[in-house]
Amino acid sequence: MPTVLVATTNPGKLREYKQIFASVPSVRVASPNDLEVWIEVAETGTTFAENALLKARALHAALPPDFRPDVWVLGDDSGIEVDAMGGGPGVYSNRWAGPDTTAEQRNNALLARLNDTQDDQRTARFKCVIALIDPNDKEYLFEGAVEGRIARDIQGSGGFGYDPLFELPDGRRMSNLTPDEKNGLSHRGRAGAQAAALLSHA
Ligand code: IMP
Repeated sequence: MPTVLVATTNPGKLREYKQIFASVPSVRVASPNDLEVWIEVAETGTTFAENALLKARALHAALPPDFRPDVWVLGDDSGIEVDAMGGGPGVYSNRWAGPDTTAEQRNNALLARLNDTQDDQRTARFKCVIALIDPNDKEYLFEGAVEGRIARDIQGSGGFGYDPLFELPDGRRMSNLTPDEKNGLSHRGRAGAQAAALLSHA
């Protein structure tokens, strides 16, 4: 059975990929910890695609040769683009508020940054790019996005990262969706559905 090895240490992302690929019963999803392979990757790219490829290629290169025939390596880079910040923090979503900040600190920093921004100027989107490398070293890129706006308070406990601040056009908060609801419309769910379609023919 092919394994999709997700190049992340983020438990929120890994949980979502397990749910997204549950629709492909012929693959199992694993993390570098499960296979005891890991590497540090500096996210030096300036686009989500560059960083997704950096992560996937580094993990692919670190795979013991015995694993290669059955393993698809998945690198994911994602973040939030806020129009009032000129599309930032984008690829810097994890770092823009300072090194080693928690998600709560980043959410509070974003609320403070947009304190004087009017409601109709608070539009934003989540973006995700998946880089997938198959057992024959072929690379694929898939993109997904979801539009919304940055709310004025923190709500809900589902999802992770900026979800408690992200309001969908219908008024629902990303953090109040069930996992299936989030995956059905999220940036990661949309990119992941394209990857799942490819994997279902693997
Ligand atoms: P990275 O892709 O691991 O570099 O993470 C980028 C940043 O965007 C992190 O701060 C994540 O918490 C945030 N982020 C990525 N995807 C999501 C999501 O689905 N919901 C909320 N925040 C996210």
